[in-house]
Amino acid sequence: MDKTIVAIDGPSGTGKSTTARILAEKLKYLYIDSGAMYRAITFELIKNNIKPADLKTILELTKSANMQFDGEEFILNGKNITKEIRSLEVTNKVSNVSAIKELRKILVDKQRAFAKDNDVVMDGRDIGTVVFPEAKFKFYLVCDLKVRAARRRQDFIDHGFKIPLEKIMVELKKRDQIDTTRKESPLRKAKDAVEINTTNMIIEEQVNCLFRKVSGLDLP
Ligand code: C5P
Repeated sequence: MDKTIVAIDGPSGTGKSTTARILAEKLKYLYIDSGAMYRAITFELIKNNIKPADLKTILELTKSANMQFDGEEFILNGKNITKEIRSLEVTNKVSNVSAIKELRKILVDKQRAFAKDNDVVMDGRDIGTVVFPEAKFKFYLVCDLKVRAARRRQDFIDHGFKIPLEKIMVELKKRDQIDTTRKESPLRKAKDAVEINTTNMIIEEQVNCLFRKVSGLDLP
């Protein structure tokens, strides 16, 4: 039987990951945070001091990476790096790493493999356009920059990092710029995606909104 895919794309700070995780729980689907996969590789490159020019090593490391996650914890090659992949250094470097075409191909294959035997909610930048263009449900989340920055700041605090709002706004703008203008799989709304503006929504409203569209039901 065909598996159901719920694809959620949009810029960072729109509430994609939190919404996707809770939605998956409610639907009893597997949740895949594709951004965490790009972050994990970025973390490994920094840790091993691998330079962007060393494409061969980057691709070998990406190919052999064993990734496991349950929506909360991210394990790379047996090591829990849940907190490390949220650091400012990884956040600032991840968009340049994720712009590497061959690296994307490897991670997209891994993302598709995760979805092979499961109903899945997956969030990212290219899920509805590239990873699963045939997904049954596609959503594209948007939100005002200031609100996104405030959410990101809270995210950082939750992971033990304290960063000024202005710095986060600059970082978000830069990341948006790289993600939307890169040659390979740029961030954009799929033609058949439903756009949802989350500026004035709390997480429960976002989840409820998507849940209604996917299941046709209201949350209990
Ligand atoms: O979603 P998150 O902010 O964790 O994603 C981190 C970065 O990973 C994004 O800014 C983007 O550069 C990259 N990414 C991507 N494609 C995806 C998911 C994330 O290029 N499907």
